[in-house]
Amino acid sequence: MDWLVGKTGQLLNSSAAVLDQVLVQGSQFEATLSPAAMKVVRGVLGNDVLSAGFFLMLVGSFYTFFKDLVIQYYHEFLSWFYVSVEVQEGDDCYRWLSEWVADRPLTKSVRHLTVKAVWDSDGDDDQGYYRSNDNHKEERPRLVFLPGMGSHVLYHNGYKINVSRERPEHASGANSEQSQLLASIQKKQSLTISTWGRDMRFLKTILMDAMDEAYKKKDGKTTIYTSQPYDTYWSSSSTRAPRAFHSVILAKGLKEELLHDITTFRNSSQWYHDRGVPYRRGYLLHGPPGTGKTSFIVALAGHLRMSVCIVNLGISGLNDQQLDQLLNNAPRNSILLMEDVDAALIKRKAGKAQSGSNNVTLSGILNALDGITAQEGSVVFMTTNHIRKLAPALIRPGRCDRKMLFDYADEHQIHGMFLKFFLSRSASGHAHNEPGHKPDAITNTVLSDADAKEKIRKETYDAMINRLADDICKLITHKDTVTTAQLQGFFMLHRDKPENILDAVPDFLEELARE
Ligand code: ADP
Repeated sequence: MDWLVGKTGQLLNSSAAVLDQVLVQGSQFEATLSPAAMKVVRGVLGNDVLSAGFFLMLVGSFYTFFKDLVIQYYHEFLSWFYVSVEVQEGDDCYRWLSEWVADRPLTKSVRHLTVKAVWDSDGDDDQGYYRSNDNHKEERPRLVFLPGMGSHVLYHNGYKINVSRERPEHASGANSEQSQLLASIQKKQSLTISTWGRDMRFLKTILMDAMDEAYKKKDGKTTIYTSQPYDTYWSSSSTRAPRAFHSVILAKGLKEELLHDITTFRNSSQWYHDRGVPYRRGYLLHGPPGTGKTSFIVALAGHLRMSVCIVNLGISGLNDQQLDQLLNNAPRNSILLMEDVDAALIKRKAGKAQSGSNNVTLSGILNALDGITAQEGSVVFMTTNHIRKLAPALIRPGRCDRKMLFDYADEHQIHGMFLKFFLSRSASGHAHNEPGHKPDAITNTVLSDADAKEKIRKETYDAMINRLADDICKLITHKDTVTTAQLQGFFMLHRDKPENILDAVPDFLEELARE
């Protein structure tokens, strides 16, 4: 105790000596200080308590400085003994590695996980609807558990791997929306895997495996990417079996025309290069809601084995800079879809979206569209319910090369929708008028009595369905302004008794007229 008191006394004495020294040295600067400032300095140094506090402050600063230095050297020293790979959020590698880690059990810190819901549907929308109703079970997402923030450990092929996830610190600011936006643009989450040793090959193999696994998972499926508020990168929101192209019923020839246009474009990279024209193509699908615009784009993506990136311009937390980054960071081989492109601009005009961080301006959209350079052969779709409200600059050729009207259902569509729902299906799940239909074994071999009866039953039933479709087309016409989505809802109501539909048509039309 005496020793401690003595040491403290010594320290205070020596600090006083140091301060005296500082005073002597400082006297040279006295002339430069104003008399008031000099008074304050003398007051601090002349007071025992204040000078001791000043001394402790100095000690604290030295301690922090040396501690940081030691930690820095310690990490540098350790880094000689391990290898690591860091991936940044927004990069494809981040998605692949996250999934790879999620598929493997972590051995430590399992108390802190991040979870996300992923919708992996096996069937297309319509089939999915039937399945879920038949089982009286709602579709549910798959839960993917990812390591939470911090360090974790897992074992792979006998090697111990450290996994660490770091979240960027949000910049502080008066406007929290702005600071979040700034933080997300400047800094992204990172995922680092490391292992002891000096050989990078093992970690590189993990990355390659992660990529292979990711491609296998989405092989033959349609991945839908969406953006979150304040994010400048895409996150995969669902991976599902492609929606059957034939399940979208459009006006006669429209689907084929669009498919031909886009296929020609995708095969014309040389043509664009030779002429120095930006290799991108824009489409505008316009028409009333519920006419199949979104369904068509998703089905088209599945048909062409592409992904879809959907950006909703109306979401809060999206501004011009972010939109630009999103469009330029779209995963390869994907269709960019800007939905309800008029809505965001109208909303802003009405002065509803005021915050500086969640405004997408017309010039921002135009710049973002013109600036898509990252991906060769970009395909951009815009949809709107009100083409007249769009600025001409947005839909001029170069930004919007084709404009297609998705109108109320015409006779061809009413007929097609009815057959889609009610024609009998072969074992392959296809109606006999659909592409991909394979006749059941019973139709092309020598038939047993039971099979022959079944064949006759199906043929009689389909003949009745075709007649019903004709009759329905006489009752519902294009001028009734019925959308294909409304037809879908109506037919679903009678899915078990199509023969009742004819009688129900007048009520259905009356109800629509009231809406
Ligand atoms: P939009 O984008 O024009 O508002 P959606 O594609 O979102 O319309 O359609 C809404 C629902 O109606 C979907 O379940 C879709 O399956 C159905 N639907 C709408 N139009 C069609 C169509 N032309 N063919 C098949 N289904 C359609």
